[in-house]
Amino acid sequence: MRRSFIAGNWKLNLTNAESRELASQLVTNLSDVNDRDIVIAPVFTSLTIVAEVIKNSPIQLAAQNCYSQTTGAFTGEVSPILLKDVGCNYVILGHSERRQLMNETDTFINEKLLKALDTGLSPILCIGETLQERENNQMLDVLGRQVKGGLDNLTAAQLTDVVIAYEPIWAIGTGKTATNEQAQEAHSFIRGLVREMFNQDVADKIRILYGGSVKPNNVDGLMAQADIDGALVGGASLKAEDFIRIVRFERGKAK
Ligand code: PEP
Repeated sequence: MRRSFIAGNWKLNLTNAESRELASQLVTNLSDVNDRDIVIAPVFTSLTIVAEVIKNSPIQLAAQNCYSQTTGAFTGEVSPILLKDVGCNYVILGHSERRQLMNETDTFINEKLLKALDTGLSPILCIGETLQERENNQMLDVLGRQVKGGLDNLTAAQLTDVVIAYEPIWAIGTGKTATNEQAQEAHSFIRGLVREMFNQDVADKIRILYGGSVKPNNVDGLMAQADIDGALVGGASLKAEDFIRIVRFERGKAK
């Protein structure tokens, strides 16, 4: 059985005071949850404050990005060592917004992922196709390229620290969720790729999250799918009540 994993990506939102308030509400309402991983990813400037608030709670900290080098003349970048130092256990890499807006390539994402692993940070590798790619039947090629590129040069042992997030770009922030069947089909394909690249044991253990307009009213159905192990939540993670309900998903209530 894979342990479920619910992560909130706060993106470029919330001041320090707002981050503190949201994190406090999550701590108050999720302290009893011990059968699933709960992760939140605030902006860099709020990491230290949020780390303090979630200390001694089941909630863990993620950064939304990192650089591929640890120190040096890289103005404006943040290294995995510094993220570990402020209390992060995870780092989101290859989010579609970074792939599209900052032109991040699979090679660069792979360099960052290897550096994160070297430092003891667990990467959450995001992959996903555009609507056009899906309509042109290129979805499997795109996912194949992103999985192979992102996980290049990793050993099977390193893969146990990696989480993959399948996020169809057409579903992110649009209110359009993939159907349970569409999401399951992609997740099963991704798990198959991991099996081909590594082995059955690693494929059975790796957690694959779904992301793209996950809300309280669709999480139960998504989580009831065999290969969906969790969710990466954007918009709904900014509302305490919604994120709490998503963390408390109930497979048995799936419609
Ligand atoms: C995301 O940005 O990772 C995401 C899934 O966003 P949303 O839930 O808002 O679609």
